[in-house]
Amino acid sequence: MALLRTQVVIVGAGMVGLSLAVALAIRGREVVVIERQAAKKEMPSAPQLRVSAMSGGSQQWLQALGVWPMLPPERIGTYRKMHVWDRDNGADIHFDADQAGLDALGDIVENAVVESCLWQRAEALGVKVIDEVEHEAPEFSAQDVTLSLSNGDIILAQLLVAADGARSKLREQAGTPMVFKDYEQHGLVATIKSQHPHQGTARQAFMEGGPLALLPLNDPHHLSIVWTRPQLEAERLQNLDETDFNHELNAASDNVLGVLKVVSERQSFPLQMRYAEQWLHQRQVLIGDAAHTIHPLAGQGANLGIGDARELSARLNELGTLNGQWDAVALMRTLRSYERARKAAAVQQIATMEGFHQLFRTANPVLRLLRGTGLKLVDAQPLLKQFFLHQASK
Ligand SMILES: Cc1cc2nc3c(=O)[nH]c(=O)nc-3n(C[C@H](O)[C@H](O)[C@H](O)COP(=O)(O)OP(=O)(O)OC[C@H]3O[C@@H](n4cnc5c(N)ncnc54)[C@H](O)[C@@H]3O)c2cc1C
Repeated sequence: MALLRTQVVIVGAGMVGLSLAVALAIRGREVVVIERQAAKKEMPSAPQLRVSAMSGGSQQWLQALGVWPMLPPERIGTYRKMHVWDRDNGADIHFDADQAGLDALGDIVENAVVESCLWQRAEALGVKVIDEVEHEAPEFSAQDVTLSLSNGDIILAQLLVAADGARSKLREQAGTPMVFKDYEQHGLVATIKSQHPHQGTARQAFMEGGPLALLPLNDPHHLSIVWTRPQLEAERLQNLDETDFNHELNAASDNVLGVLKVVSERQSFPLQMRYAEQWLHQRQVLIGDAAHTIHPLAGQGANLGIGDARELSARLNELGTLNGQWDAVALMRTLRSYERARKAAAVQQIATMEGFHQLFRTANPVLRLLRGTGLKLVDAQPLLKQFFLHQASK
């Protein structure tokens, strides 16, 4: 049993919690991270199923933190083009990095690979990362917060950051009111092999019930798919034998990449929108999926969370200390300004995703008509296209 005093304790060693830890440690802040799982530090040798499309903004920040150069180049799938089409009416949109003066529209990376690099970088900067532990409910005082761990350690910190994901226990313990919506859809995730090379293009086919995203990995013939389907349909697809699954996948992809074959297990994730109405509770602040989860339609959840970590670290790093202590009033003012700024960003993303979701799942004939003309309109309007490119890259 040890008593650990620190400025910041972060619960959750996902991409968001660890990137915050690195950003604070670079500026000399004392940070402890606790994580309930084991072995996230090790770089997985085999390709992992869970991937994220990293925006240019996230990539640049991870670059500045010294983490991006640690990613093995063969585990990064850069995409420079996007092709989105509607299977019902043939409308389609093409996005190109060149049009926006960008080198790329984004990078597909395995979550576990990013987490492993972040973990190693955090430890190299002096962050203490404690894994395979649970915690009791935090105890708050005017000056600090105490967190008791299942291994007997006690952490005394000035600030507690809840980066413990969508089902945040800290958020629950704080009794935070939530806005919640179950999309009654699942995201079916798998790795596939394509007959034709993907040519660094991310593709998304919209159809009744939800889109099929085909995300290019580093190997020109390997892609990660996120296939959004109604819950029962996702379960059915997950349980099909490989031949039957491949058959349905090929039909849904309109053969844009020739014959597709699944080369991994299939996993399915429930798609739910969550938004915490209060991100502050005494000396506790929420970031990442603990504060918000959004539909993965535009691949923005991790990017939004990384944006939280970036904003919070920038504000905390600007805040002066006296004998290593933050002034309690100044700290709360800083946390409130973080909350205001990031709530606005989260609400904007949730609203955009909700609009897309409604437009593309509907059977309403008027909305379906709008959907066709909508996509065509976008293709015809350079200004609107610029807007979408900006969203894709920020
Ligand atoms: C199908 C699907 C596809 C997606 N695709 C994309 C995409 O392309 N691009 C994108 O930007 N986003 C995408 N997302 C969203 C993205 O995966 C999440 O937003 C992101 O992983 C959230 O990161 P996080 O660090 O906040 O939470 P998490 O990754 O959930 O990390 C939380 C960590 O906290 C730990 N933890 C939890 N509870 C405790 C506890 N009590 N004590 C200690 N540790 C604890 C967990 O073990 C975990 O390590 C997708 C999501 C889904 C479901």
